[in-house]
Amino acid sequence: MSTQVIPDYTALARDIKHWARELGFAEAGISGVTLEQDEQHLNRWLEDGYHGEMDYMARHGSKRSRPDELEPGTQRVISVRMDYLPPGTQHAWDVLQDAEAGYVARYALGRDYHKLMRNRLQKLADRIRGAIGDFGYRAYVDSAPVLEKALARNAGLGWIGKHTVLINRLAGSYFFLGELYTNLPLPVDEAATAHCGSCRKCIDICPTQAIVGPYRLDARRCISYLTIELKGSIPEELRAPMGNRIFGCDDCQLICPWNKFAQDTSEPDFAPRHSLDGAKLVELFDWSEEEFLRRTEGMAIRRTGYEGWLRNIAVALGNAPSSEGVRAALLKRAEHSSAIVREHVAWALERHRQVP
Ligand code: SF4
Repeated sequence: MSTQVIPDYTALARDIKHWARELGFAEAGISGVTLEQDEQHLNRWLEDGYHGEMDYMARHGSKRSRPDELEPGTQRVISVRMDYLPPGTQHAWDVLQDAEAGYVARYALGRDYHKLMRNRLQKLADRIRGAIGDFGYRAYVDSAPVLEKALARNAGLGWIGKHTVLINRLAGSYFFLGELYTNLPLPVDEAATAHCGSCRKCIDICPTQAIVGPYRLDARRCISYLTIELKGSIPEELRAPMGNRIFGCDDCQLICPWNKFAQDTSEPDFAPRHSLDGAKLVELFDWSEEEFLRRTEGMAIRRTGYEGWLRNIAVALGNAPSSEGVRAALLKRAEHSSAIVREHVAWALERHRQVP
């Protein structure tokens, strides 16, 4: 008769956090699966229509806020975070102020993080299996309906700031999150407490006033949504405030005082590719579809598609200082096969016509 050895879960939890760091994660924490208040917050956000065209946010019912409905048997969630700020990209404000350059969100400058983090989470699961034998788990990196920020907060990795991004007291907010749902009854960590206080810098700086109140983001106004998720025409009144932001936006994080503690990534794969941390708009607008696909292989930027790429850059060129080069670049795309691109190019050209 074989006797099953019950693992020492306290020691295992300690080992998991140690292995996570060995695998390149900055930190790991463990939470339970109760997210009642966050479920209410999510439902209200959906009722307000703040998710815009992101139908997938509403599609999965309570699976998003109830981990054991998404993966039956889940008792705990191991959340991990990985810093992504590439060294030398601290000059973000300079790029934002250079209206001839395109601003790409700092998280998207290098290789897409999804596969990399998933592989590491799989390795973490392998280490656990090596220690205790088979166990139930499922790894997620932005790949399923998961309330990752709330879970990470409950695991002690940070608090959700007024801009709705997770902030860590010792590392700011430039990090990715991933999760390992598991049936192991591990001891849970203490949830992180909030430290925004009376600050509202992120609310005030948002170029499109997308943070409509503390902890309330109207994604339909958010430049990340407009440049990545939205597939059609960008509302005209939001185009000028977009400035030169062509893929995502970091303003609410750049202004956050807690980011003076931000840590550079040690992950070489997140280093900027194709000088995207400040490339000239005219040059980026000149990329053919084939160049776009080749150069963005394995990068998050692919997600906007070539049409979205040209649309976003056309808006930024409409906001750039008038010059022969800018007008010529726009005119070259004025008869583009995409109606969306043509419309945004026409808007941009009109802006330059108004300049004496
Ligand atoms: S800028 Fe201020 S209010 Fe906004 S997340 Fe940071 S600390 Fe909180």
